[in-house]
Amino acid sequence: MTRRVHNFSAGPAVLPEPVLQQAAAEMLDWRGSGMSVMEMSHRGPQFIEIAETAERDLRELMAVPADYRVLFMQGGALTQNALVPMNLLRGRRSADYIDTGSWSAKSIEEARRYAAVNVAASSAAGGYTTIPPREDWTLDPDAAYVHICSNETIGGVEFPVPPDVGSVPLVADMSSSILSQPVEVSRYGCIYGGAQKNIGPAGLTLVIVRDDLLGHAMPATPTALNYRVVADNGSMYNTPPTYSVYIAGLVFRWLKAEGGLAAMAARNADKAALLYGALDATGFYRCPVDRPYRSRMNVPFRLPDERLDKPFLAGAEERGLMQLKGHRSVGGMRASIYNAMPLAGVTALVDWLREFERRQG
Ligand SMILES: *Cc1c(COP(=O)(O)O)cnc(C)c1O
Repeated sequence: MTRRVHNFSAGPAVLPEPVLQQAAAEMLDWRGSGMSVMEMSHRGPQFIEIAETAERDLRELMAVPADYRVLFMQGGALTQNALVPMNLLRGRRSADYIDTGSWSAKSIEEARRYAAVNVAASSAAGGYTTIPPREDWTLDPDAAYVHICSNETIGGVEFPVPPDVGSVPLVADMSSSILSQPVEVSRYGCIYGGAQKNIGPAGLTLVIVRDDLLGHAMPATPTALNYRVVADNGSMYNTPPTYSVYIAGLVFRWLKAEGGLAAMAARNADKAALLYGALDATGFYRCPVDRPYRSRMNVPFRLPDERLDKPFLAGAEERGLMQLKGHRSVGGMRASIYNAMPLAGVTALVDWLREFERRQG
């Protein structure tokens, strides 16, 4: 008997069960091909159909405008931290970065190897629990781009709407919030993210970039990681992570069948409201993030005493509520409630939160 838990991992994370079932059914023989997708040539008609369908569905889901390219890459978001300046500095000297947590701090550190980085705003001093007010940002009108992390997966801080940065291209690390709600892609010059939070398996990295920003990569940019080259070769300059692209394609199909990103946004809002509501109901649990910037995807919280962490986690696991331990850098708990986390999982967690609190008296 297959037993499925409620998996609150921040990533790699829960996938929709129908997607896993379909992948299992197609494992040995993809639609009469007599092969697993893993065994197919990436240049054969079958895989080309899989990749083209995945891109088409993603474009439809996110309403990606025609002048944006969708790239299926590898290396994760951390590799993009180098590839963004290499590809998008476009002969300029500097780029603006907004520092709102561990992931944007990592982006900044890496970009410094390639660009003069202007940290235009930072919430580090307050322990990364908010987004600095837009009017306090010191943006440079000559910057090549402005970089943000749309959702800080570790700190649980999310931009409720994309910031207005004028005509300078906005670049967003959207690893942990992509596809969780409709996005106005035209507000961005470039969106990127690792797939393993809200898209599919690790190994695939998605980049959505405006066409006019391409073609000015630094000469030292590795050819296979040059956005222009990847775009011109339909993400097949070298072998793409074929199986991860296939699973991502199944996730896109699932999202469409579930009503698309507007339906996801409504569902995610309900799940987040239920969980934050339970955490705020009494003074027992503490959620450090400034309310307007609380993430809908990653919910960090603390118990009144660290000595309660172990029994809390043990009781959670007994109930099939897994991976609730917070990131090692911040401690406490964290519940990641991505698209594929059903409402039933959040309800079960809320029941445990209440029961645990009652037991502590
Ligand atoms: C997980 C994560 C990363 C790191 O992604 P890798 O794929 O491991 O490189 C970067 N940024 C954000 C916002 C993340 O959630």
